[in-house]
Amino acid sequence: MNNSTLIIGAGASGLMASSILGHEAFVLEHKKESGKKLLITGGGKCNFTAAEPVDSICSRFYEKKNFVSPAIHSFPPERIRDYFKELGVESIVENNGKVFPASGKAEDIRKALLKRSGVIFFSENILSIEKEEGLFHIKTDQKTYHAKYIIVASGGITFPDTGSDGSLNKIIRGLGHTFVPQHGTLTEIMTPTLPLFKAEGVSIPVTLRKGKVKLSGDAVITKRGISGPVAENFSHYLEPNDEMTMEFIPLNRDSFSSLSSKTILKNALPLPERLIFTLVPELSSKRVLDLSNKEKDEIIKALSDNTVAIKLNERRAMCTKGGVSTDEINRKTMESKLVENLYFAGEVIDVDGQCGGYNLTWAFSSAFTAASSILRKKKLVLS
Ligand SMILES: Cc1cc2nc3c(=O)[nH]c(=O)nc-3n(C[C@H](O)[C@H](O)[C@H](O)COP(=O)(O)OP(=O)(O)OC[C@H]3O[C@@H](n4cnc5c(N)ncnc54)[C@H](O)[C@@H]3O)c2cc1C
Repeated sequence: MNNSTLIIGAGASGLMASSILGHEAFVLEHKKESGKKLLITGGGKCNFTAAEPVDSICSRFYEKKNFVSPAIHSFPPERIRDYFKELGVESIVENNGKVFPASGKAEDIRKALLKRSGVIFFSENILSIEKEEGLFHIKTDQKTYHAKYIIVASGGITFPDTGSDGSLNKIIRGLGHTFVPQHGTLTEIMTPTLPLFKAEGVSIPVTLRKGKVKLSGDAVITKRGISGPVAENFSHYLEPNDEMTMEFIPLNRDSFSSLSSKTILKNALPLPERLIFTLVPELSSKRVLDLSNKEKDEIIKALSDNTVAIKLNERRAMCTKGGVSTDEINRKTMESKLVENLYFAGEVIDVDGQCGGYNLTWAFSSAFTAASSILRKKKLVLS
């Protein structure tokens, strides 16, 4: 009886699942190479997990923290690090808790997974998947494969040149699954109606707000808007075309009385001069005592309560928001609730985490969960 497992996608999660299942599984990849996105993670150094308590890791997945919890508890950061150590990859922890291979090479993570991986068939374009009498039939442009179990690990839709291009989504929908609309997240927030380029390169703490959501942290002003950890993490809450409010410093009318009155505004406020000049060019060289109430209100609006139209920079998005609905997946096994023996892992699922090694943690933990659930089922089948 055909008892084999087919993994679709040789990226971070597909390679992890394959390394656990070994020769019990085979992988179909539509690119000519595996792990193309993995190789560019962390600027090529691969921030592959985070040295943090498991509950804190789960909280990095916003409203999906309960969904990710069983998988991350079953394959937490220490186990991920031990797994790679066993495969010859030592890791280092930076002061901020980010974990990298000690070599500083993402390639070592890929090589390690490939050591235990089953066979990978490259340049396979999947045309259809059908299930008949308990067996999946996967037709590609080269041949038809048959498998008892499938793990879908086809990734999201950002950096499509790496292979994660959403090309499998239609087929997954055909199997009955719903996709929560996808777009790029974990990215620069562009402010097309507020040119910030004159302050490009300024690093500054900022508070970002949209409705009741508020996030504070370090940002960097870019040519097109703002980037840095707070902007990237806040992008989760934004639609591709949206609005948000920026607060560079909390100010109200009374704040001006505590400033040195004879000093010009750009030297009086504890903010980089270039930023003040960019946001209130005409008022930045006025003495504080010469500012009218109307001008003070203008400054408060620009520096403390600046609501702007935004666009997400999807070209640079490090993660995909949206994907296969988590309502349709058993969070303890990663098995579909709709199609028996169909599993999901990684970014194809409607889960996105913050910046800091959390998305690869999810890719590895969900892959581990799917692969070990299949192994458990196989043992039951054999006994
Ligand atoms: C620039 C950048 C930097 C990043 N840095 C980090 C970091 O330092 N730390 C971190 O935690 N996360 C980081 N990420 C996010 C992380 O790379 C992803 O979350 C992770 O790779 C997702 O793994 P995955 O296996 O789900 O998808 P992917 O790694 O994207 O793999 C999907 C695989 O499926 C294949 N595939 C897709 N469609 C098909 C199809 N139809 N048929 C066959 N194969 C198919 C693709 O070719 C690909 O090989 C970064 C992302 C980017 C873009």
